[in-house]
Amino acid sequence: MRIGQSTDIHRLVEGRDLILGGVLIPHEKGLLGHSDADALTHAVAEAILGALALGDLGKWFPDTDEKWKGVNSQIILKEVGRMMKEKGYRIGNVDSLILIEKPKMAPHIEAMRQNFAEALDCPISKISVKATRGEGLGFVGREEGVLAQAVVLLEECE
Ligand code: MG
Repeated sequence: MRIGQSTDIHRLVEGRDLILGGVLIPHEKGLLGHSDADALTHAVAEAILGALALGDLGKWFPDTDEKWKGVNSQIILKEVGRMMKEKGYRIGNVDSLILIEKPKMAPHIEAMRQNFAEALDCPISKISVKATRGEGLGFVGREEGVLAQAVVLLEECE
């Protein structure tokens, strides 16, 4: 078994889509970044890379590469899932957390879990997505950005 973790932060700005866990969430602000800026999906993907000791997400999907400009981060996650399989591992479980002041994440959590289960080719029961507010404190509370965290456990395939 191997364990990995990651944190990702993206700025919230006007004129961008808010996409988290592969779900387009209606909101007046969205996340700024080279790809679709899906911080939650990035955290999950990078935690898997971490468990495999393969470095960070930027090493494999550099924001200087036009190939990844505006890319749907589910494609990045699928690619990381492919690397995981190639190394002989499968998902044990994923636990992830979004810190965002608003809007409410609860209506979108199941769709996010479904997206991750599909991208990683594993049962949805192995995927946990949680969310919490910033209680008005710090950059999350001021709605300047979001922070996402993920911890993953990988099991060796027989
Ligand atoms: Mg990111």
